[in-house]
Amino acid sequence: MSLLPWHHSTWHDLVRRQHHNGLPHALLFNGRQGIGKHAFALHVAQWRLCIQPHDDGACGHCHSCLLWQAGTHPDVLICQPEEGSRQIRIDAIRHINQFLSQTPQISACQVVVIRPLEVMNLNAANALLKTLEEPPGESLLLLETERIGSVLPTLRSRCQRLVLAPPSHDDAQQWLVAQGIEGEHATIALRFNPQAPLQALQWCQTERVKQVQQWQQQLQQWSERNIALQAISTDWGKLDFTDVIAWLHQAVNDWLKQQMGIDPKALMFAELFQASAMLTDATVDKTKLLTLQKQCQALHAQLLSGHGNVNKALTIESLLLDWRHVQSSALAAKRQHHHEEPA
Ligand SMILES: [Zn+2]
Repeated sequence: MSLLPWHHSTWHDLVRRQHHNGLPHALLFNGRQGIGKHAFALHVAQWRLCIQPHDDGACGHCHSCLLWQAGTHPDVLICQPEEGSRQIRIDAIRHINQFLSQTPQISACQVVVIRPLEVMNLNAANALLKTLEEPPGESLLLLETERIGSVLPTLRSRCQRLVLAPPSHDDAQQWLVAQGIEGEHATIALRFNPQAPLQALQWCQTERVKQVQQWQQQLQQWSERNIALQAISTDWGKLDFTDVIAWLHQAVNDWLKQQMGIDPKALMFAELFQASAMLTDATVDKTKLLTLQKQCQALHAQLLSGHGNVNKALTIESLLLDWRHVQSSALAAKRQHHHEEPA
């Protein structure tokens, strides 16, 4: 696993510590979603298992590294919630303890990766606590968390914490392009996943970027009266409904910002508000726009909390008509304004 460019300085600190005093038994990697915590943990794991490691990482060709690459290394254990579950349970921790009670077979130590640490239930956390209090001889525990506040303080205090910083926007953009992503797609994916390049990459690989792009174009066509209501609602009906509402909520927020004079380039749906003069040329009725915003916000919250039992097609059509209603409030105001102008 190669090191991500924005993790270099953290990596070099870690290597220095290893040379100086050795690493502690448990390291807790903390950082937001999508910045590559797991990639970093795996890099550390392979390096500690490697028989001829160097300061950049594992050698890549020793017996340990070959087993690692084949996915059959006997001295590493990765613990994460089972498919379909959101929790790490006590059985998983018992399995770890059993694993650590053996001696390493190939490498000089055994490595356990636990991710994410915050989804452990209380029983599991207490069992892990015992392991952390009396770590078996040659073992390294690498723990990952996005929400340090949700990790039991007793667990936290028994690990050394390492904060992984997110990349700058430019670093993230460059990295995505180096992964073979088109520049334009990278920009859009990062707008929706700021400072989270791995998540942005997933957006690009799962077509979500193309979906949001097409969604945006259709909203533009709707705003310019170039698409029929039923055509657009049929297409949006094929998308994830929570996505559609989240995006519409965001587009309404953007519209409000645009009306307050914020540069369209800074908006989430920058292309829409730069391209569509129908949206940006006129001042709209703010009360109507705010009402639409509240509606989208409430619906979005409802969907996120899992209570979204609504008729999708009807909801989409009704919101689109409201969108156009806000637009025509501006057109009407404009006509009136022209009418009042002295000849
Ligand atoms: Zn090696």
